[in-house]
Amino acid sequence: MSTFKAPKGTYDLTPPDSAKYLAVREALSAPLKNSGYGYIETPGFEDVALFSRGVGESTDIVSKEMYTLTTKGGTELALRPEGTASVLRAALEANLHKLGNLPVKLWYSGSYYRYERPQKGRYRHFSQVGAEAIGAEDPALDAELIILADQAYRTLGLQNFRILLNSLGDKECRPVYRDALQEFLRELDLDEDTRRRIDLNPLRVLDDKRPEVQKQLVGAPVLRDYLCDACKAYHEEVRDLLTAAGVVYEDDEKLVRGLDYYTRTTFEFVHDGLGSQSAVGGGGRYDGLSEMIGGPALPSVGWALGVDRTVLALEAEGIELELPSSTSVFAVPLGEEARRVLFAKVTELRRAGVAADFAFGGRGLKGAMKSANRSGARFTVVAGERDLAEGVVQLKDMESGEQQAVALDALVAEVQQKLA
Ligand code: ATP
Ligand code: MG
Repeated sequence: MSTFKAPKGTYDLTPPDSAKYLAVREALSAPLKNSGYGYIETPGFEDVALFSRGVGESTDIVSKEMYTLTTKGGTELALRPEGTASVLRAALEANLHKLGNLPVKLWYSGSYYRYERPQKGRYRHFSQVGAEAIGAEDPALDAELIILADQAYRTLGLQNFRILLNSLGDKECRPVYRDALQEFLRELDLDEDTRRRIDLNPLRVLDDKRPEVQKQLVGAPVLRDYLCDACKAYHEEVRDLLTAAGVVYEDDEKLVRGLDYYTRTTFEFVHDGLGSQSAVGGGGRYDGLSEMIGGPALPSVGWALGVDRTVLALEAEGIELELPSSTSVFAVPLGEEARRVLFAKVTELRRAGVAADFAFGGRGLKGAMKSANRSGARFTVVAGERDLAEGVVQLKDMESGEQQAVALDALVAEVQQKLA
């Protein structure tokens, strides 16, 4: 071990486990790639004001969890705590909304940073796969995103997750509800911090998990009773489309989520095997965000799925992903001459598209065969002086244990045929 360790609240991904994370990222993004979403990548840091304006000063993310820094030039930056504001910023900057038809559909995958109290499923560096559909107000788009996330989790084999769905209203009806809620909350017996929240972000109080708070929230006004006709109709349409697609969801009128920019559709994917860090993903509609960061009106919807918690969910359900071995052929040379010949064969195999590896470091046969086993390769190729004199190598099928001599010139074709 070196003197250094991964910083608190972070962990490294190392083989073989790292392969699982790659597979999860791939599975979470596959339905998007298949549905007209284009890949977008933005910097790991942004102007701090993008988040304070976009995500909202009153949110935990901005008020407590952001890693901020001042550069030598005096610019205030923040490590990105979430993806939506950055992606929208980038889409506006590149004028994507003017180039083609709306909506602009984008997906991303990357690292996010929040200064949180580390615990299982809650880290200071974590990874998300996200999707944003920018510039269209269409309930089918909200439904599409929920259906695609559901599909992603299902292709991984997950079953014990639930979809929570709510509507947060829009700029017409939400303020009316907000007033009513504030009035209700002000009558309750709450601590200093929570009282402050009533003024800043009263909907967030509904999200307070403490029993002593939850107890008092019984009878609180619910948003559903305040939705305007347009929001109601929109929400009904989203629900109908989900039902038609066979996606099961639960109406959750308390679901408010932590970000200020959400309007109308809001949803969360929770997994029942994860304890208190149960949200594996979430998202919603954010019709006002573009204007909040200085852009034109662009109603949009998106989600972000947590890779770390999805891996934990797989573990909780005892799901082993079937990861194909990354090496098909492992070459073991015996002697100097064989080393040169087999190294060239490995290069040839790789250029022919066969995943191949080589016993480096000049260890003996025993050590080399151990490496071959550990690689998970389907075949080993062994050759010594006598084989080379005959122009052959020994090709061993590690599954059946069968071994045969194959002409050096025919090796690549033979392997390709056997793997096909
Ligand atoms: P929570 O309520 O658990 O704090 P959140 O509402 O802050 O979650 P989002 O901002 O919606 O989370 O992020 C989307 C997803 O990213 C979450 O559902 C979760 O899977 C993951 N995520 C968020 N914060 C963390 C973290 N600190 N560590 C690991 N994963 C995280
Ligand atoms: Mg959080």
